[in-house]
Amino acid sequence: MTNHIFTKAIHLMDNIYSKEDNRSRFQKRILCDVFLTVSLLIGIINIITHEYIYAIVTLSYGLFCLLCALAFRHYKSTALTTIIINVGSLLMLLYLLLFEIGNIYTVLWIIMIPNVTTMVLNLKKAVIFLFSIFVLIMVLYLTPLCDVLSIQFHEYFTKWYVILIYSVFAAIACTFEYLRNITSMKLEESRKEILRLSYYDDLTQIYNRRSFDKSLTEVFTAPFSAKRRVALLMIDIDNFKLYNDNYGHLQGDKILTKIAQTINSYITEDTYTFARYGGEEFVILMPDADNMIAVALADQIKTAVRELGLVYYDSTKAASEYLSISIGVACEELSNLDGSETLIRLADENLYRAKSQGKNIVCSS
Ligand code: GH3
Ligand code: MG
Ligand code: MG
Repeated sequence: MTNHIFTKAIHLMDNIYSKEDNRSRFQKRILCDVFLTVSLLIGIINIITHEYIYAIVTLSYGLFCLLCALAFRHYKSTALTTIIINVGSLLMLLYLLLFEIGNIYTVLWIIMIPNVTTMVLNLKKAVIFLFSIFVLIMVLYLTPLCDVLSIQFHEYFTKWYVILIYSVFAAIACTFEYLRNITSMKLEESRKEILRLSYYDDLTQIYNRRSFDKSLTEVFTAPFSAKRRVALLMIDIDNFKLYNDNYGHLQGDKILTKIAQTINSYITEDTYTFARYGGEEFVILMPDADNMIAVALADQIKTAVRELGLVYYDSTKAASEYLSISIGVACEELSNLDGSETLIRLADENLYRAKSQGKNIVCSS
């Protein structure tokens, strides 16, 4: 339930962040804006109530937040500004704890500063930072230091009250930041998974049709010299329907994956794209390969698949057979082709010839 709410919140924030080039910088900038607004508000109230020193300190801090917000807005590197805002906030907190504990607005800062710290720093650094402040407060208020410095507490809250408020809000801030971290990590994982799924075939773990289409478009749209060649291997598993009929579709899936992985181990060039075209059909796109190289690869993978020794029963021949593949090879100069469709059609025609000539065959133009 909590995670659901957080996922929604992160989605909402992501929509805003997407307009920014850097999410973390945007977050820090917004927090500076919040600090600035609160500083202005408390400053004005303190002027009205004639607490001028408190007003001056608060407004100065507001001005400092404004400078930090501008820095986050204009400069790429935010490391220095992050340190400055945290040192500034620490000094502000120390001033409040030492000299303004009699003022009721101090409690607002004690709530705000831990919350902001966790967001501006990463979680680990924030926990160290907040814990150091916690120790500092404990030392300040639970040792005779308080009497030595003659710190006067406001009638509404005692030193225990201050420690409690600080601890509770520091814990809440850390929990929120922790949950936010988990949620954004999960979202990041899902994003990567979606990206992976959009380019890979889930069953065989090789590229899918979409990736093949993308590579094909790239080959045909990139500028090319008159002599540049491209080869395409159209591969189809022979009698696969019979195999499924014999052993069932689940076993068929396993074998489909096994054949895909076997072929994949022969793809040594980074520029080649081996993909599942659909069903039990695969393609290998080989930019800059000549006919000899394409046919050699086709022969190699045809033999490799046969040598897997995947036996099935062929009722039409009333005999046991080994699974094999048929391959249609097309290889042309790019300048001779009027588009990628022609290349696919040529490979398809050769595959059809291979099938009609008895299967387990490589046919090229
Ligand atoms: P041919 O030698 O003429 O190619 O015969 P074939 O049986 O391989 O061809 P056909 O087109 O008749 O049948 C293709 C079969 O491939 C039918 C279908 O059950 C099977 N197939 C396609 N995709 C999958 C899949 O993802 N998993 C499994 N198990 N089988 C699949
Ligand atoms: Mg087929
Ligand atoms: Mg087939």
